[in-house]
Amino acid sequence: MEEQFEYSEKVMEHFRNPRNVGEIKDADGIGRVGNPVCGDLMEIQIKVENNILKDIKFKTFGCGSAIATSSMITEMAKGKTLEEALKITRGDVAGELGGLPPIKMHCSNLAADALHAAIKDYMTKKEEKAKVEAEKYDFDVIIVGGGPGGLTTGILCAYRGLKTAIFEASAWGGVLSWLCPDKTIENFPGLCEKTTCSDLVKSWVDEALKLKVELKKERVNEITPDKKVISEAGEYRGKVIVLATGSSPAPAGVKGEDKFNKNDRGVYYYVANPGKFAGQRVLIVGGGDSAVDAALSLADSASLITIAHRRDELRAVQHKVERLKTLDKVKVLYSTELLEIAGTERVEKVIMRDLKEDETIQLAVDSVVLAVGLTPNTEIFKKLGLEMDENGYIKTDKTQKTSIDGIYAVGDIASDLQLVVVAVAHGATVAHHAYIELRKPYWR
Ligand SMILES: Cc1cc2nc3c(=O)[nH]c(=O)nc-3n(C[C@H](O)[C@H](O)[C@H](O)COP(=O)(O)OP(=O)(O)OC[C@H]3O[C@@H](n4cnc5c(N)ncnc54)[C@H](O)[C@@H]3O)c2cc1C
Repeated sequence: MEEQFEYSEKVMEHFRNPRNVGEIKDADGIGRVGNPVCGDLMEIQIKVENNILKDIKFKTFGCGSAIATSSMITEMAKGKTLEEALKITRGDVAGELGGLPPIKMHCSNLAADALHAAIKDYMTKKEEKAKVEAEKYDFDVIIVGGGPGGLTTGILCAYRGLKTAIFEASAWGGVLSWLCPDKTIENFPGLCEKTTCSDLVKSWVDEALKLKVELKKERVNEITPDKKVISEAGEYRGKVIVLATGSSPAPAGVKGEDKFNKNDRGVYYYVANPGKFAGQRVLIVGGGDSAVDAALSLADSASLITIAHRRDELRAVQHKVERLKTLDKVKVLYSTELLEIAGTERVEKVIMRDLKEDETIQLAVDSVVLAVGLTPNTEIFKKLGLEMDENGYIKTDKTQKTSIDGIYAVGDIASDLQLVVVAVAHGATVAHHAYIELRKPYWR
């Protein structure tokens, strides 16, 4: 039947030697069209790079003009931008072929339609991919800090069905993991003397993973008021942000501290490895739980332990103080202030002041543990302009909300109680209020 039409030279040439026939491996877009009346079926596949049609192939089942228009449109569109390619019409294709018999115009129409369908397919897929990609960075709740406060907030948010991510810069579990992994948490009801810090942290991490909390080992460098979280690896968006960056040992600010507090030269802020102090004379500065815990943990390794405390009485819990009193190698100097840490390569002695007698004391020591308290890690929030109290703790209301809407704070950065049980309670409070804020349940 084809013979009865007058085809142009160009149509015949494309019909006999069709260009770009075949398939593209991993095509970016596919357009399929068909004409049920004449039975033409046409498929165009495209490869797109930087918005340009890098490759086009076609598979056509149909008449000579269907083959020729398919072949021609691949030549016309290759190398064009998507917008330019979308402007190619059936008239343009027919024109390039030197015209088509009127009855065959529907065939050239198919080629343009197939190309447009392939481009549309590519754009739809691209939009879907962008949406999926964006969702990877979007969370209901983003928690900064993976210590007790952050992990338990994350668990309880995920338990309520909120899409949650926790960012941790170093060790999951916070100070408990890196300062005292083997210690038992005696003041966490139900766990007394049974569970070490490592056990507790492991069970939190396991639970978080089970509840599909995304645990991201990335340091957060900035949080913007519109709740963008910028980490060392990317940018994320949370509808609610929870600050849980905890605290760090406070410096004592005495002469010699900076000289000896690096590279194992004798000044420490905690006792992570008691074995390191074997046979040493150790001065512990402070009178709270951290100082007494440090002394107790050194009881089997150090040769002599001196505690220097500015007050007349230790602040640690009574039963620990009683335990301390049973140790012959521990001596407590009350009303005593550390003035200077001295030595050449390592710590050799300390100079202190007896505040009652107003006398200077020199003591030969091998190491000094400065257990003078913890300071909240609020540095990265300074730019945010959050309200803080005079000691640097982030101010919150009773729902743990900070001075900025949608931003909450839990644990040591929000409380000078500095207890695991308090951090966990903050987590429960935030999970409850974040759920109300995000899901607006009927009961509120
Ligand atoms: C030696 C010692 C012994 C203790 N013993 C007890 C005890 O027996 N019982 C008790 O109840 N409490 C104890 N505490 C206190 C308790 O550890 C804290 O109250 C608790 O860890 C607070 O939890 P948190 O999640 O607020 O902070 P942290 O545990 O300090 O965790 C904060 C986390 O945030 C991370 N972080 C900080 N900045 C960033 C950032 N920019 N990006 C990403 N991550 C960041 C940190 O790496 C850290 O892991 C002890 C503390 C010390 C130091």
